[in-house]
Amino acid sequence: MDKKMKALVKRARQISKRYRITDGDRFRLKDVDPSDTLQFTSEDKPRAKEALGEGIEVLATLQDMLYAQDRWAVLVIFQAMDAAGKDGAIKHVMSGVNPQGVQVYSFKAPSNEDLDHDFLWRCMKSLPERGRIGIFNRSYYEETLVVRVHREFLEKQRLPSELVTKAIWKERFQDIRDFERYLTRNGIAVCKFFLHVSRKEQKRRFLERIENPEKNWKFSANDAKEREFWNDYMEAYEDMIRHTASDAAPWYVVPADNKWFTRVVVAAALIETMDELNLKYPEISQQARKDLGVVKRALLEGK
Ligand code: ATP
Ligand code: MG
Repeated sequence: MDKKMKALVKRARQISKRYRITDGDRFRLKDVDPSDTLQFTSEDKPRAKEALGEGIEVLATLQDMLYAQDRWAVLVIFQAMDAAGKDGAIKHVMSGVNPQGVQVYSFKAPSNEDLDHDFLWRCMKSLPERGRIGIFNRSYYEETLVVRVHREFLEKQRLPSELVTKAIWKERFQDIRDFERYLTRNGIAVCKFFLHVSRKEQKRRFLERIENPEKNWKFSANDAKEREFWNDYMEAYEDMIRHTASDAAPWYVVPADNKWFTRVVVAAALIETMDELNLKYPEISQQARKDLGVVKRALLEGK
């Protein structure tokens, strides 16, 4: 890593650490202001965009090493209310990386086949291969969010009734913690984002989706209906973060009322996550280097 890159990584870590939760006990959602932009004001927006561009370049280099080394994988999870900017964050932050090294999966309402299995099944099938970044646009965490807010989804899962007790959410948190520890012990780093948008900003974005014909496709009437359950969702998100934040698999709770800022923080957190892996390009053995010398000479001497 050259000096410039080291400085950029350091700056990224200064930003991301503010939003990283590794110990859920003291976490309160109300302590995170969705409109927070650190020291940046809206006049700094162009500078923030420039910083994002630099961050994206750093990410591209880290991803190149991840791919070449082929030892680690990174699982990146995005959770948020509708219109919080998951899609845009994924699109912008990953814009500089080699598409061959990234796998993106979106998890919508489960299919009949999904419902015939345990709740982690469909996500396990989609975990990233070594050397890759896997992005989950929603994830098994929905099993403690939408399924908790709307109990009819739990009924559809046809669990044996004696297993469905008051403890079910605690049990799911425990299973998820164990699962994520298992992943990290297998060389899959886990990085989780909750994009925290305010109810007011969500309303503004919904209205924009309705008014702008090019955004109509993004809006469904059901999204507006889910707003009625806002407080239930916030409670579920808070409980989820409190129970599943860990050193091995931190949550980043990212202010999401300003898209440009959200993207800066997401890029910074990904840089931090990958920097922790001490990635290096693979080095070849002395013998292999000698063999390369032989091939080089033959190439130079030939036509
Ligand atoms: P966008 O609306 O921005 O295109 P999205 O992620 O909201 O993206 P949708 O097509 O709206 O995509 O589908 C996601 C829906 O699927 C969400 O309402 C989510 O709560 C629901 N969902 C995801 N996982 C589950 C699950 N395990 N059980 C029930 N519903 C789920
Ligand atoms: Mg949606």
